[in-house]
Amino acid sequence: MRRALAGLMLVTLGAPVAAQAPLPFELKQVGPGVYAAIDGPEHKSGSNAGFVIGDDGVLVVDAFFYPDATKALVGEIHRLTPKPIRYVVNTHYHADHTGGDQVLRDAGAVIIAHKNVRGWVRTNNINLFGDRITPELKARIESLPLPDVTTDTNLVVWLGARKVVIKAVLGHTGGDLTIAVPDAHVLFAGDMLWRKIPPNLIDGSVREWAATDTDFEAMTGAAQTRYIPGHGDVADVKDVADFRGYLLDLKRLVAAGRKAGLKGDALVKDVAPKLKALHADWTISDRAIAAETGYMNDELAGTKKRPVPVAD
Ligand SMILES: [Zn+2]
Repeated sequence: MRRALAGLMLVTLGAPVAAQAPLPFELKQVGPGVYAAIDGPEHKSGSNAGFVIGDDGVLVVDAFFYPDATKALVGEIHRLTPKPIRYVVNTHYHADHTGGDQVLRDAGAVIIAHKNVRGWVRTNNINLFGDRITPELKARIESLPLPDVTTDTNLVVWLGARKVVIKAVLGHTGGDLTIAVPDAHVLFAGDMLWRKIPPNLIDGSVREWAATDTDFEAMTGAAQTRYIPGHGDVADVKDVADFRGYLLDLKRLVAAGRKAGLKGDALVKDVAPKLKALHADWTISDRAIAAETGYMNDELAGTKKRPVPVAD
């Protein structure tokens, strides 16, 4: 509606009628001055992001993968408030959450991240893409900005009187942060939460991850909290329980298959239909199940590779 009106005004003023490109994400207000930017079905942003407008500035959560999407996010922030962009907090090092950091830094943001992000963002992201890496992508990853402020514990950022609570949590990469806005009952969960789509377990520990999601469900005000996942739509506490259930189902099914002596493709073929049947309202690709089964098998076998912290 707003867009239609804006288009109409251009016509009325006699300006060239350029069709306004749709945003590469859907912006959703999830609390007073708190917004989630949800990646669309075409994945033009690469992940979700969001921002918090405080008394004297704006804190952004995550930077997307595609810098053009990040530029659109900066445009939306400037449209909603004249306050300066002061911070971006990366929930973890994966490039789909850090790819647009330079755009936010250029817009005035100090980059805050877990200390391990500094050691991993330019190196481990190359492994993340595996055989899909191109020379251009490798060069882009090797020039991603390093965070300015790092932590491996909890941190409070004050936007004037508005409190933003950053917590170090375990499970997805070994360098994960969540960002809570207590006065709005919003938790930006990063990739500790995915809504109705399978998570990427490449760097994860399902054991730690499920425990962190248990904490999300038990947090004060959970019933009225809006949880912003790293991927998928805005979630509530039932979605958190559903996601944790998915992780535990995966673990249980892979453990049962292993006990029956299955491995490789046979294990995947055993797990896939059972997992899909248990989560019929999810969008689950065969490729995702094959990868998840492999990573879960490694974790249960004690051979799972996880990123190793790098000394400062
Ligand atoms: Zn991730």
